[in-house]
Amino acid sequence: MACLFGHRWNGCKCERCGKIRDEQHVWAGCKCKRCGKTRDEQHDWKFCRCNRCGKKRNIDEIIEQSTLADIAEYGFDCSVRMQAVNKILDQSLLTNIAKKDPSDLPKNINVSYISLQKDNNADVSFAAVVKLTNEASFVDVAKNSKSPKVAQYAVERVTDQASLVDIAKNAYCNKHIGEYAISRVTDQVLLAEFATTKYRVGGNRLLAMQDIGLREHAISRMTDQALLTEVAMCESGSGAVRKMTINKLTDKITLTMIMNGDKTKFVYGSSSGSTFDRDMVEIDLRETARKRLAELE
Ligand SMILES: [Zn+2]
Ligand SMILES: [Zn+2]
Ligand SMILES: [Zn+2]
Repeated sequence: MACLFGHRWNGCKCERCGKIRDEQHVWAGCKCKRCGKTRDEQHDWKFCRCNRCGKKRNIDEIIEQSTLADIAEYGFDCSVRMQAVNKILDQSLLTNIAKKDPSDLPKNINVSYISLQKDNNADVSFAAVVKLTNEASFVDVAKNSKSPKVAQYAVERVTDQASLVDIAKNAYCNKHIGEYAISRVTDQVLLAEFATTKYRVGGNRLLAMQDIGLREHAISRMTDQALLTEVAMCESGSGAVRKMTINKLTDKITLTMIMNGDKTKFVYGSSSGSTFDRDMVEIDLRETARKRLAELE
């Protein structure tokens, strides 16, 4: 025995024989820097595991909303992530999880887990959107979610007419979400505004095609002849949209007026109202009105 006549203590550890005593530890959080002993306090939690001592904890023990959100967003185990979502009540955290891009992956993820993690991300986002309760959050998610399933669920929960138009104009996800939003709009004035207002600046060809599709959708939902006439006569509106609208008019006096109008001989129509589209074509609205009148005879 090296220390027959007494140890030479340096805090918790004997410098001569290495014996440990349970006093004067040098705590750094949960672990003693000198002897490595751990205690069950001041852990450095990363998700469900302590960074410093490796202790694991059950998700049931976690109450901090922001930690739960981290687990939900960046955890690896899908069932644990789902449990985390189920424990989150904070609406803004849930909104962020619902809007999360499915291709947003944890750092250093193993290549073979990438597609699984993306699938899991979509499931976790859906679990989050289901827990939302306020309309503003649904609008936010409908516009910004990159998952069609999540966005659709959100649109279904929005009833405010102006918000639905806002979603149609700004849905990130796809044309389908925009159309779905418009199909829930009944307000004739909002539909007319949507059909005539330029709402996308720049953009690309795909967006331009989506625009015209959405406008068609809006016009198909319009029944108010006075408003349809306004859309048909709107000089700044897209030629294609105006043509489509003329074909829904039933008032012969209006149609005759368009047929004889000075400014409706040719308009330049693009496949969208945007100035970006280069495929401008001449559309003869007078001829359109003439054919429509003949149809009504
Ligand atoms: Zn000793
Ligand atoms: Zn120690
Ligand atoms: Zn620890």
